[in-house]
Amino acid sequence: MRELIDVGMDVARINMSHGPLEQHLETYSALREAAADRGRHLGILADLPGPKVRCAAFPEGGIVLEEGDAIQLTAGSDGSNSEMIEVNYETLAADIQTGDRLAFGDGQVVAIVEDKDSDVLKARVVFGGLLEGRKGLHIPSDRLRITAPTPEDLRLLDAMVEVGVDMVALSFVRSAHDIRRLGVEPAPRGPMVVAKIETRAAVENLDSIIEASGAVMVARGDLGNECPIEEIPHLQKEIIQACIAHGRPAITATQMLESMMTAPIPTRAEASDVANAVFDGSSSVMLSGETAVGRDPVNTVRTMARICERADAEFDYDKWAERIADIRDEQKSLVSQSDRWTDSITHAAWQVAVQVEAAAILCLSRSGFTVRSMARFRPKTPILGFSPDTRTVNQLSLSWGSTPFKSMDRSTPLEMIDDALRLANEVGGLRSGDTVVVISGHSTKSRATDTLRLMRVP
Ligand code: PEP
Repeated sequence: MRELIDVGMDVARINMSHGPLEQHLETYSALREAAADRGRHLGILADLPGPKVRCAAFPEGGIVLEEGDAIQLTAGSDGSNSEMIEVNYETLAADIQTGDRLAFGDGQVVAIVEDKDSDVLKARVVFGGLLEGRKGLHIPSDRLRITAPTPEDLRLLDAMVEVGVDMVALSFVRSAHDIRRLGVEPAPRGPMVVAKIETRAAVENLDSIIEASGAVMVARGDLGNECPIEEIPHLQKEIIQACIAHGRPAITATQMLESMMTAPIPTRAEASDVANAVFDGSSSVMLSGETAVGRDPVNTVRTMARICERADAEFDYDKWAERIADIRDEQKSLVSQSDRWTDSITHAAWQVAVQVEAAAILCLSRSGFTVRSMARFRPKTPILGFSPDTRTVNQLSLSWGSTPFKSMDRSTPLEMIDDALRLANEVGGLRSGDTVVVISGHSTKSRATDTLRLMRVP
């Protein structure tokens, strides 16, 4: 974990689909220790499983299915074999219809349902492969009777909120209502909620889901099972653009460096995929199996960081900021008045920073919203984000190009600005005399960021 932090990990996801809660709590503590040891603000994201359907365990070594094989599936949890695949979904035979597509894992094996009786589905394999462990089974989400969050999600959420997790991700979201059912306090009092976009319904309800969430994940694994594969690159762009309009970070996830599960370098196509995710405007890129069970997690993170840094260096920042200004104008009606104020100030901060060649943009923000809003413009000028709230500071690790700092909770904005300037000088890499743009509220009660100052580091 320490090495992963050293080579570029900003956020650690704990995938709660695998393993018991006790193990996740241990991982959580170990991550906090590793971050403290390295003196870094690491975001920790607890990813709730949602109504994930899984097969009961296959025998050691798995089973190999070939195209044309007939298979049978039923509800159960005792074990799976080539005669019968048991699935942890009670109403499987009732809910799935003839003609439905069943995808195992991220689509490594696919079967089409041809017939069914009251308990058993009969399906034909159209793409063969190996099934092992407790493989996930993707069934079309509009067939699923259970919705996210499940009672198990809420139990896991309670435990993770109690230890102070920074962010929680909800799987298989279908509407903004699913997000609200989590019932967490708005960030930073509660964790930031990350909506995983991986169902057709979520794509249809994108704007309202983004508005109800703190951040979004383009969960390409399940999304690629739910939608035709040729749609994925376009959905990725559409989801990221909608996040930009709403000022929410977008995480692009899954199979980014998949071949590095076993190989020391990625394929050329994977390297391009990571760079293109940066060009699309992703705030973060995510690794899954590569770091969870891959051969060399540290090398994989280092490689990903190198590809991102290079893509950032090539990024057309000026064109991007103009594009953001256009997107904001188009979406004006969706944004509340206080958010529009923050929006205008961050836009102005970008322009001023360019004109005066500022050394940094200092954003003072309790909830982190101003920093996220600023990061959307991708300024070439470094963004330093200051908040007195530890959880906000950790959440800022998800935002593009922002260095988070924990500040003191003072009674006036001027005192907070003094603190920020001092920190920027001591540990933020700035020098006395540097020109900086500072944005904040004009009083500690301001509901929006309404003040822009040009200052010199003392
Ligand atoms: C995905 O489906 O792409 C994803 C990130 O979710 P999970 O890893 O939980 O399957």
